[in-house]
Amino acid sequence: MSVLIYAENTGGKFKKSVFEAVSYARAIADQNNTSLTAVSIGNVDATELALLSKYGVNKVLNVSGDKLKEFVNQAYASVIAEAAKKEGSAVVVLSNTFSGRGLAPRIGIKLEAGVADGAVALPEQTGGSFKVKKTAFSGKAFATVELTSAIKVIALVPNSYKVVETGGTAQVEDFRVETKASDFKAMIKEIVRSTDKVSLPDAEIVVSGGRGLKGPENWGMIEELAELLGAATACSKPVSDAGWRPHSEHVGQTGIAVSPNLYIAVGISGAIQHLAGVSSSKVIVVINKDPEAPFFKVADYGIVGDAFEVLPKLITAVKEYKASA
Ligand SMILES: Cc1cc2nc3c(=O)[nH]c(=O)nc-3n(C[C@H](O)[C@H](O)[C@H](O)COP(=O)(O)OP(=O)(O)OC[C@H]3O[C@@H](n4cnc5c(N)ncnc54)[C@H](O)[C@@H]3O)c2cc1C
Repeated sequence: MSVLIYAENTGGKFKKSVFEAVSYARAIADQNNTSLTAVSIGNVDATELALLSKYGVNKVLNVSGDKLKEFVNQAYASVIAEAAKKEGSAVVVLSNTFSGRGLAPRIGIKLEAGVADGAVALPEQTGGSFKVKKTAFSGKAFATVELTSAIKVIALVPNSYKVVETGGTAQVEDFRVETKASDFKAMIKEIVRSTDKVSLPDAEIVVSGGRGLKGPENWGMIEELAELLGAATACSKPVSDAGWRPHSEHVGQTGIAVSPNLYIAVGISGAIQHLAGVSSSKVIVVINKDPEAPFFKVADYGIVGDAFEVLPKLITAVKEYKASA
């Protein structure tokens, strides 16, 4: 048995979530005294591939070529499944990102494997079975699923496992797979990035605003605080519905699910549909003028106060801290 990690790249670079998934896969490999192979698809250069060995990858299968340069769900799933067969992998790990969520079930079918997406902790292993803790009901609850199949596919939620540097070197092998025409029936033709700022699903800090901010003209405070903290900006659903902010910023049950280290909610009541998308944040700070706002029940830190007074003071304090650091 070996463990396989799919090292997803964005524009030829690996994000932190990949190193988290590699560290997670390394821990599973260690529990089973086996090796860890990474498969990378889509023209990633040697320097970037070498980074994978820092986190315990023993071997990298590098798939390049024009056909697979951009993400194609079905074709990437075929390549990863073939890599797993070549390596005799009993566990395949991916990041629970937009592409990881699409790939996991497809790989599961190709390998006749049990699939746990939304994983947030290392599996508990007994005999040949894995019990995996995962998010359920759009992040409102956790479930434990038991995988009893010979091969297991696990997609790890970003920010739910630490990055562990182990050092080491990995040999890089070119890996070629004959893809079929049927793998290319649905293709992405164009990707239009909504902003150059920090990407919301990957952000480690998120500053989010709700209807309590009264109107789009007041978002300068949210953006300034976000910029100072290197954070992404987000909002509640009514805010994007009203056109105050783009829909790409809407978090919650019907929007994006985030799991940053720090989520700062300003003027957001904390309705269950909003919490569904943010409750796996590590630390939640709530700023709301109503002490009875439901968000305070799940907050690690709360400030009862008017956002128009609290935010300028917070911005000044962060500036002073940064100037003195
Ligand atoms: C099927 C369904 C799906 C939904 N999906 C989502 C979703 O994905 N995401 C989502 O966000 N919502 C979703 N909603 C809507 C959700 O139920 C709430 O209506 C919404 O989250 C409320 O947004 P809000 O907190 O910004 O506004 P409000 O509920 O109006 O709350 C505003 C808050 O700001 C506070 N406030 C006011 N003035 C100030 C001030 N000056 N300073 C500080 N605080 C102030 C108030 O005390 C209040 O708590 C969904 C609803 C349904 C029915």
